[in-house]
Amino acid sequence: MGRVRTCASCGRGSEVLLRGLCPECFDRRYGVVEGLPWELVVDVCTSCGRVRIGHKWLEYATAEEAVGLMLSSMSLKPVHPVERVELEDWALETRLDWRTRVRLRFRANYRDTLFRVSRVIVLRLNPSTCPLCIVRRSGEYDTLVQVRGYRAGEAVEKTLNSLDPREAPIDVVPVRGGVDVYFHHRGAAARFVSRLASTARVRVSRVEHEHVGTSSLGRRRSRKTILVRLEGLTGERGE
Ligand SMILES: [Zn+2]
Ligand SMILES: [Zn+2]
Repeated sequence: MGRVRTCASCGRGSEVLLRGLCPECFDRRYGVVEGLPWELVVDVCTSCGRVRIGHKWLEYATAEEAVGLMLSSMSLKPVHPVERVELEDWALETRLDWRTRVRLRFRANYRDTLFRVSRVIVLRLNPSTCPLCIVRRSGEYDTLVQVRGYRAGEAVEKTLNSLDPREAPIDVVPVRGGVDVYFHHRGAAARFVSRLASTARVRVSRVEHEHVGTSSLGRRRSRKTILVRLEGLTGERGE
C-alpha cells in the first residue's frame, strides 16, 4: 500500500496522483484518451452492409459485432502521464441507428494503479458504397469465381498469397458456404483457378457467360462466372 496523498482539486485522499489530481479529477479535467472524438463517423455500405475500418471493408454477423468493429477503429492514445488505455466495455445508450449514443468504459493504467473511466460518444454511420458494390453495380468486373466446398476460405487465402500482387482480385467476399472472388481480367481469374487447383482438389462445376452490353468499341461484352467446388486439400485423403 502506498502513501495516501491529497487531491489538489477535490481534497480526497488518493494513493496515486496524476499531475496532483486523483484519477477521477484527472479524468474530468484532461480525459484519459488523447483526442477522443465526441462523434465517431464510420462508413457503411448501404448496398452490402459492410463497414469500413481503415482501408478494409468488413463483414459482421450481428449488430453488436459491427459496433465492436467500429469502436476498434478508434486509436486509444493515453493522455500523459497515463500509461495505457484500453476499451474494456461499451453499451448502447440509444437504439442502434444512423446516430447512436454509446457509453465507452475505459481501463487506464498509471504506474501500478488501474482505474476506470467512462465517456459517451456518438457513433454516426455515414451511408456510402464500397468499391466492390460500385464495381458490381457498374458491371466493371469481368470474372467472378465462386469458390465453394471443403475449407474454401483457407484454400483461397493460400492461393492469393502465392500469386503475384499485380494479379490480385478486386475483392474477396466471404459468403455462405465459401468465398466470392472478383477479378478485373479473366486471365488473372484463370491463373487464380489453376493455382487453386494446386492447393486443393478442384472440380470446376460450371462456367457461365452473361452478356452485359456493348463496349465503347462496339464489341459485345460478356461477364464470366466460374463456380469451383473443392473436394479436399492436396495431400489429404478425400472424404
Ligand atoms: Zn480529486
Ligand atoms: Zn458494398
